[in-house]
Amino acid sequence: LVSRELYPADSVVHIGSVPFGGEHFSIIGGPCAVEGLESFRASAEAAVKGGAVALRGGAFKPRTSPYSFQGGGKEALEVMQQVSKELGVPAVTEVMDTADIDLICQHVDALQIGARNMQNFNLLKAVGRTNTPVILKRGIAATIEETLLAAEYIVDAGNPNVILCERGIRTFETATRNTLDLNAVALMKRKSHLPVIVDPSHGTGIRELVGPLAKAAVAVGADGVIIEVHHEPKEALSDGKQSLYPDQFAQLMTELDAFIRAA
Ligand code: PEP
Ligand code: MN
Repeated sequence: LVSRELYPADSVVHIGSVPFGGEHFSIIGGPCAVEGLESFRASAEAAVKGGAVALRGGAFKPRTSPYSFQGGGKEALEVMQQVSKELGVPAVTEVMDTADIDLICQHVDALQIGARNMQNFNLLKAVGRTNTPVILKRGIAATIEETLLAAEYIVDAGNPNVILCERGIRTFETATRNTLDLNAVALMKRKSHLPVIVDPSHGTGIRELVGPLAKAAVAVGADGVIIEVHHEPKEALSDGKQSLYPDQFAQLMTELDAFIRAA
């Protein structure tokens, strides 16, 4: 179902009214996690002012350590819904548990399946039974074939609204948090009709590398990027080191615009 061989035309998936795929290049911005109303509003305003057309933010966070901030849960979803309404842009958040799907769908416009859950097949089938768009992140050590088969689970369950996301894989290299696999973007675009976006924030883990890799994403044919931006990265409860400052984000969006028009 996700194969381009059988379905040659590009799929366009909408998050709210924002299109992903085809001729579009769409930018999602926002903090790693929703830390509270004032904080999320400030980061979201920076993202939208800079040029993001959709918001990101985690309410249920998959943290490596059980002692790290785990996310604000339902309260964070309410914050997202309110700010998304205030700014008039759709929002996406990660779902980690099938039990939270309904609640999340009531508050935001798209579900994210995180890298750590890419092969949580029950979760894939459950989001496949909704009509809500899904951003499916590539697993930390998942092959391209496994990633496409994970997408197949969602579409086969009845939900065609899947956006693939390359967010870096684990390799022998430790100088960056992950190795952003741009091969995968080019290949997934050939193998599948689904939109493919790039997450240069988790893909590198280093603020200074987010811009260059976002530009590379445009060049390699991605349909959009998802970027972490925080109003005060130093104070962020998660992923501050890879979060852009508001002015950096705005500057990058201006530069990216030239790349998008040239592509
Ligand atoms: C995130 O988007 O904040 C996140 C946890 O992403 P990933 O699942 O790609 O690590
Ligand atoms: Mn993050």
